[in-house]
Amino acid sequence: MPDNKTVKKWSTNDSKEIYGIDQWSNDYFNVNNKGEVTVNLTDNGNKSPVSLVDITRGLTQRGVQFPVMLRFKDLLESRIAHLNESFLKAMSAVNYNGTYRGVYPIKVNQQQQVIEEVTRSGEKYHYGLEVGSKPELIAALSYMHDPEAYIICNGYKDSEFISLALHGQQMGLRIVLVIETPSEIDLILQVAKKIKIKPLLGIRAKLSTKGGGHWNDSSGDRSVFGLNMSQIIEVIDKIKSKGQINCLRMLHFHLGSQITDITNLRQGTTEACRIYIDLVKEGAPMGLFNIGGGLAVNYGGRKNNASGSSNYDIKEYCTDLIEIIKKTTDDANVPHPDIISESGRAIVAYYSILLFNVLDVNRIEADNSLSGLPKNHHETLDFLIDVYKNLKTERLQENYNDAVYYRDSLKDLFLHGVISLRELGFTEKIFWSILQKIASAVELEEYVSDELKEIKNTITDIYYGNFSVFQSVPDAWAIDQLFPIMPIHRLKEEPTREAVISDITCDCDGVINRFVDPDGERKTLRLHPIISDKDYIIGIFLVGAYQETLGDLHNLMGDTHVMSINVEKGKIKYSRETEGDSIADVLSYAEHNPKELLGRFRCLAERAVEENLVSATQRRKIMTAYEAGLRGYTYFGK
Ligand code: PLP
Repeated sequence: MPDNKTVKKWSTNDSKEIYGIDQWSNDYFNVNNKGEVTVNLTDNGNKSPVSLVDITRGLTQRGVQFPVMLRFKDLLESRIAHLNESFLKAMSAVNYNGTYRGVYPIKVNQQQQVIEEVTRSGEKYHYGLEVGSKPELIAALSYMHDPEAYIICNGYKDSEFISLALHGQQMGLRIVLVIETPSEIDLILQVAKKIKIKPLLGIRAKLSTKGGGHWNDSSGDRSVFGLNMSQIIEVIDKIKSKGQINCLRMLHFHLGSQITDITNLRQGTTEACRIYIDLVKEGAPMGLFNIGGGLAVNYGGRKNNASGSSNYDIKEYCTDLIEIIKKTTDDANVPHPDIISESGRAIVAYYSILLFNVLDVNRIEADNSLSGLPKNHHETLDFLIDVYKNLKTERLQENYNDAVYYRDSLKDLFLHGVISLRELGFTEKIFWSILQKIASAVELEEYVSDELKEIKNTITDIYYGNFSVFQSVPDAWAIDQLFPIMPIHRLKEEPTREAVISDITCDCDGVINRFVDPDGERKTLRLHPIISDKDYIIGIFLVGAYQETLGDLHNLMGDTHVMSINVEKGKIKYSRETEGDSIADVLSYAEHNPKELLGRFRCLAERAVEENLVSATQRRKIMTAYEAGLRGYTYFGK
């Protein structure tokens, strides 16, 4: 028996430690003494932590169902201020003569609310926008009217795109057209001549430095974006031949997203700086050095260059890159350029949290009773039972091999019609019980094979979450991205279950089985046993970047409800509620016409009345249910 005096009671600190919240939260999230996750908002300039449980209570009172996406404009504001202030500080520390003019890349989260809040929060820094397509430019022209901020136009451009940008410039906006292919320059100069305006031109360089990580292919010699060195020369000669070299103002590069190693960013910046200097020497006025995106977010919370982490922070990023640019341009006697960066992920990732409730749990439990053993069973089943009864700590591997062998033999016997479904059912029950016993024994052993260590990951619970991986965290599926995930309450209690999280799309890829761990990653998440009739709510954090944009309608699971949260005079304020997709909405995205669907179903119901399968009154009830279904949320209600 354990000595009660020495058994340490589980505390919120233990929960903080196992979920690694201090490492990934950037001080935006914490755990209060009630064991609930809090978000650090601002109330009239003062820090004001708000419990996510209190927020969800208000949502439930308002009838907002799970899953729900919460957005916090305070966090967005804080990120924009932090990036701008860090650059300005790094510049002033080394007497840098230029300034910083960041732009937010719309593609990272192009929701109306996000663009509006980014432009409003960034106003005092003249924080601009980056666009990569015509629709993004159209949105940018409606939101960005600051004549001192930039709109950077990347991506391939047709004459319509170019003339829109040039008209914007005519109206006093600073719009830079970035040349991505040698052929673009002719078209830009042609359209500019027609409109009678001198365009602001940029060149995107294809560097030989690679970014590393998942987006490695967006950079380096084989990248599909930007101009290589001979193409840059070709473009310069063309611009010069048309007498337009005074239009060339900016050099741009982008090493890829989530660059986890500062060394790659330093190398890329040095290489691009060398190109910048030579463009000045070629006679271009220049003045703008655009270092692209790539500033990483530390999803995993560990300070290393693993894919979900980052071995640097914003301050280090700004300091290191400004030092390189200053030194390289000073050495070449070239004036310090103004710096533009296109950080997206680092600006919006913290902004949103997805909250979902757990609908059900599938547990594999050891059954010590041997109940249900069919009377007349095959002798192989007795061999499997012997393994179960005589498990020996010193022979775990041998016991495991035997169990697998007999389980496979019994499966074969079933396929050949020798044993019954009941015998096979009992086989599975006893096999999983053996694995449970082995997994517990392995915990106490020092030297065991990887195969045995892996068992605990195959016998975990499955928690079914009321959300869609494909709609709300597509990168968890598409590129195995790590996101911090934890329950938002009950953090004073020890989580005693090991689980993976399945969504409700009934797709075997709709599972999350990579989780943050203080010592690296883990394949299971520690969770609490669910209590019947009580919600168990889990949060997926740092989902503000790319996830909403990339989410798809797999299994026709639509957009979730969205709510913006802030605090005013000590009260939680709920605003900008956006209703998630209804079933009729998602069906219409797949080109079904809800009215036609209703008509078709009505025909079925009428036929059933004619054939006396249902009464006319029953038909009315059935039709009402169908219509309510069409109007309803795509996720599960209570
Ligand atoms: N700029 C360009 C040209 C991009 O393609 C991207 C996205 O990959 C970004 C900026 C944003 O990058 P990040 O979100 O890593 O800051």
